[in-house]
Amino acid sequence: MVRRHHEKHRSGRATWLRAAVLGSNDAIVSTASLMMGVAATQAPKDAILVAGIAGLVAGAMSMAAGEFVSVSSQRDAEHADIEVEKQELAKAPDAELHELANIYVQRGLDTPLALQVAKQLSAHDPLGAHLRDELGITAETRARPIQAAWISAVSFAVFALLPVLALVVAPATLRMPTIAAVTLVSLASLGALGGHLGGASKLRAAVRVTLGGALAMAVTAAIGYLLNVTVV
Ligand SMILES: [Zn+2]
Repeated sequence: MVRRHHEKHRSGRATWLRAAVLGSNDAIVSTASLMMGVAATQAPKDAILVAGIAGLVAGAMSMAAGEFVSVSSQRDAEHADIEVEKQELAKAPDAELHELANIYVQRGLDTPLALQVAKQLSAHDPLGAHLRDELGITAETRARPIQAAWISAVSFAVFALLPVLALVVAPATLRMPTIAAVTLVSLASLGALGGHLGGASKLRAAVRVTLGGALAMAVTAAIGYLLNVTVV
């Protein structure tokens, strides 16, 4: 009986969490900037709200579509690899066994042991052993386009809600400052979280995303202001 030993690993969790945190920056910055641009034209609250919600929906849909396309092509490539591997295993099982043993030799086993490991794993699940050790494909890492699409759409929508809610609660005279403040505080917190998850400096990560967000809002607000002055 082998005793199980558990230790805390961060890397597995960090991958998708970091992706979610990065996506959340996009959602907050793009929605807030859009709303600031419209707000700077002296537009009424309704118009700013519509802009914010339209930005939220458009962003969520485009994230979903983008993720779906990119993860689908990754899945197609995986399927093609798996097909080739299946055919090879059916056609030349001996060559495949030695290929597997060679991989274990490269990872540090001596040749007789590598061959023994390859034989036992092949007796158990030859395709699984080749996919895992030759191609690096496991059940956990398989590409899932639909899942990737809805996760990115939902996380975009959730974070894009922050500047929209800021507008809803803001007093009429303080709309732009409230949107800006909520946006910058959210970006700073998420930046710090991203830095923490990536094992980097929290402060530096927070400052970087906050400055980026401030710049984006300043530029769109300035353009909204200029358009209002020149067009109206
Ligand atoms: Zn193989």
